[in-house]
Amino acid sequence: MVQEINIALIGNPNVGKTSLFNALTGSRQHVGNWPGVTVEKKTGERRHQGSTIKITDLPGTYSLEARSPDEKVANAHIMSGHPDVVVQVVDSTNMERNLYLTTQLLDMGQKVVLALNMSDMADARGDRLDLKAFSKGWGVPAVRISATRGEGLEDLLDTIISTFKDRSVPSPAVNFGAEIEGNISEVEAMLRSGGAGGTSPRWTAIRLLEGIEKVEEATADAGLRAKLTAALEGVDRDEVEMDLVDRRYVAITSLLDRTYVRGSEKRSLSDAIDRVVTHKYLGLPIFLTMMWGLFELTFTAAQPFVSAIGLGFEWLAAFVVENVQPDWLASMLGDGAIAGVGSVLVFLPNILVMFLLIALLEASGYLSRAAFIMDRIMTKMGLHGKSFIPMLLGLGCNVPAIMATRTIEDEKSRLITILSAPYISCSARLPVYVLLAGIFFPDNAGTALFLLYLLGIVVAVGSALLFRHTILKSETSPFIMELPPYRLPRLKNTILQMWDRGSMYLRKAGTFILAGAIIVWLLASLPWGVEYGSEESLVGAIGHLIEPFLAPLGFDWRIGVALVFGFIAKEIVVGSLGVLYGAVEGAGLEEAIALSMSAPSAAALMVFVLIYTPCVAALAAIRKETGSWKWTLFSVVYSLILAYIAAFIVYQVGLLIW
Ligand code: GDP
Ligand code: MG
Repeated sequence: MVQEINIALIGNPNVGKTSLFNALTGSRQHVGNWPGVTVEKKTGERRHQGSTIKITDLPGTYSLEARSPDEKVANAHIMSGHPDVVVQVVDSTNMERNLYLTTQLLDMGQKVVLALNMSDMADARGDRLDLKAFSKGWGVPAVRISATRGEGLEDLLDTIISTFKDRSVPSPAVNFGAEIEGNISEVEAMLRSGGAGGTSPRWTAIRLLEGIEKVEEATADAGLRAKLTAALEGVDRDEVEMDLVDRRYVAITSLLDRTYVRGSEKRSLSDAIDRVVTHKYLGLPIFLTMMWGLFELTFTAAQPFVSAIGLGFEWLAAFVVENVQPDWLASMLGDGAIAGVGSVLVFLPNILVMFLLIALLEASGYLSRAAFIMDRIMTKMGLHGKSFIPMLLGLGCNVPAIMATRTIEDEKSRLITILSAPYISCSARLPVYVLLAGIFFPDNAGTALFLLYLLGIVVAVGSALLFRHTILKSETSPFIMELPPYRLPRLKNTILQMWDRGSMYLRKAGTFILAGAIIVWLLASLPWGVEYGSEESLVGAIGHLIEPFLAPLGFDWRIGVALVFGFIAKEIVVGSLGVLYGAVEGAGLEEAIALSMSAPSAAALMVFVLIYTPCVAALAAIRKETGSWKWTLFSVVYSLILAYIAAFIVYQVGLLIW
């Protein structure tokens, strides 16, 4: 008989849940060496011993108290009674803290299997664990695995199936002492008799006693509410909460003392590196230097490929224009599709190089240090500690960055982070920078990229500060970030991650940008009979409508058109420039731009593209995460005004200098 088993992967952040999920299901979710990468649950399947195992990867969580949105996702998923077996992924080198969550799962009455991951690291350190005695201690089967090496997975699957079939009822790991246990039993009995408390009345009882859940949340029944309120009266919730935490740790220590000997820490090298790279004064310069090097390479290492691809597209466009009939089709393909998509695709090598380097930095663990340094600065400025990690994700695309803010408990801090995240420059803006910096600042292009990304960070942090002190006044909460150990990046993961970004870029080029290019071409050709791309065409009309507003920034009407369409996706800015400037007689895109733009206006344009209105996808994410049109609109208006001011300053100052 084919059986279906629902399992959930749960565990602290950064313990290898997603690695395990990928290893089991063969999918390729993003794996990152820092907390907070997975914010939504993901599902996949694995067949084993004739059973279908349905696997849900949950966001990382230290506890099930459900204070932050991502903890809530994990808590709700388990309380819904969905998983048949909960597989907790444990970092074997950090047992004590990881097992805290286990005690809560057992309070919920879940069937738990412990996947003791990173066994390779534990072995390297010389840890010794009596696996049998350890499993027996709390009656929780444990299996040693290494998700990245694919070790122990069969054993884990076997154990999941045998645990699923096991009919015995799991029992709590921790005895909270006569008084509290008495209270728990009393409240639990009330909940049960009233049909409340969901799949785990004991867990609900505990949360009520700790004051984490309110009576109103637990039941709608007025009679039961009154009874519960009476029972909870006189209970000092904070004291219960602290007591429970203590007892949990006592139980953990007692189990580990009997079954586990920790090996000697060999992190001295790692610690030595950390002392330097997270140093109070040296940390930031090192981070900035690394960033500068990254962008220098992004520009220079990719340049030969960029030129080659560019030549290829120029040849292709010329070929089409000469050989395709009728003329309008040749123009649509050559001046529209090929010029537009081609001008975006040439920058694929830059994207690949940049994301290869970022993936390497991330997997090695350095990026966590960078986040640590930034966090320290931001916390000093009175910003919320957890803000920078979500922002870092924005280097790829701002949408996941906006979603990653779910790790932030406090609603106002979260909103602040959502509103400032889009200023972290995403990969869609890179082509604009590479194109313009390559034309106007060829000797310092890498530095120009670096400065733009840096400006993005400054604007993000500055906006966050502004919001905190004006419209979203709020307290800050301290956040202690832990630094993951340095790890040798795995080539396969790194390449996959680079390719993920690259293929996303290609897909966008084939869809959004192609469509955008053709629309711009069409508008540039209409009404029929006007000279293509001339000021009499429809784009000319649109462009001239906004030109007066953009003149103080040094932008001509073509740039105005490109910016309007760039609202859909920022790559389209370059795509439209390709379509519009390609029309300048006989010259390639770069020469055409060099002829009709000046260095100050190019600099202003790069700054404007960095800051102005988040793209449609990012706005949709903002709308979804804030649940508010008001904030979405605010984001558009605020960033337009800010972009305008910044570009104005850059242009006017540029005119004075150059
Ligand atoms: P998650 O946050 O729990 O989903 O963790 P990830 O799957 O994103 O992994 C976090 C980091 O741990 C990544 O750098 C992985 O490559 C690394 N990692 C995961 N499993 C193992 C393992 O078994 N051994 C070692 N050495 N590293 C691992
Ligand atoms: Mg994950």
